[in-house]
Amino acid sequence: EVDANVMALNTDPAREQVLVLLYDVTYLRQVEQMQLDFVGNVSHELKTPVTAISGFAETLLAGAKDDPATAEKFIGIIASESQRLTQLINDILTLSRPQATQPKLTAVDLTALVDSTLQPLAQPIKEKQLQVQRDMPESLVITTSAPKLSQVVRNLVNNAVYYNRVGGRVTITAVKSADLLTFTVRDTGIGIAEADVPRVFERFYRVDKARSRHNGGTGLGLAIVAETVQQLGGEITVHSQLGVGSTFTVTLPLEETEPEIAAD
Ligand code: ADP
Repeated sequence: EVDANVMALNTDPAREQVLVLLYDVTYLRQVEQMQLDFVGNVSHELKTPVTAISGFAETLLAGAKDDPATAEKFIGIIASESQRLTQLINDILTLSRPQATQPKLTAVDLTALVDSTLQPLAQPIKEKQLQVQRDMPESLVITTSAPKLSQVVRNLVNNAVYYNRVGGRVTITAVKSADLLTFTVRDTGIGIAEADVPRVFERFYRVDKARSRHNGGTGLGLAIVAETVQQLGGEITVHSQLGVGSTFTVTLPLEETEPEIAAD
């Protein structure tokens, strides 16, 4: 798709010259369409928990509150749908917030970060009888944006636990070289079909919609991971086999801790 701008360069009718500027706006149109799709998806996704919350609240007011067992069940649904709504809003804000050009960099211990990510997962790990293996040095300090790295680790580890199977395994590894961090989260879970693999980083893409929504996933986790890794100048890859498991690998360039003095 092309937009054109035509300007007369010369007012002298004997030497008519015009400048024609052609712009390829295909990319702009694609970005506009993606933004429209995102807004459409957002409205749809927000409506689902809101409809449930207002529906159950109205049913309670209409009389269901008089039966304690029913009331407790409905209030439980309202509470979990509210949590879901909060998670959705947080994820949407994370994706929509304009990015500061330079994220604030600090020293972050990735090993400690992984440990604190695993703590709130103790319950589902126990319920699914998962073996969690953490192949990392006692302390692995890198210079990066703490909130961004934490976002990446949390979403990948959550998925590895959540999409796992009873008795499965989660292996988290990190290796640091002079200028590169390689962080891997591997699970022996349900895996992802070949056709879905390239799509899992898309906003709101879920392989199994009913299952994910029911369990509180927003379909935004991996989109956030991909964008965050990109902001940190890194890359993410995924290898997966349906019914066998998935491996997500993040590589991040590392700043040299002691900058060399420029020879000039
Ligand atoms: P969700 O909130 O649905 O988990 P994500 O963006 O984190 O959203 O993931 C997108 C989809 O990719 C998920 O709905 C799921 O189908 C698939 N997926 C993500 N991680 C894994 C994994 N470790 N194993 C299998 N499938 C996964």
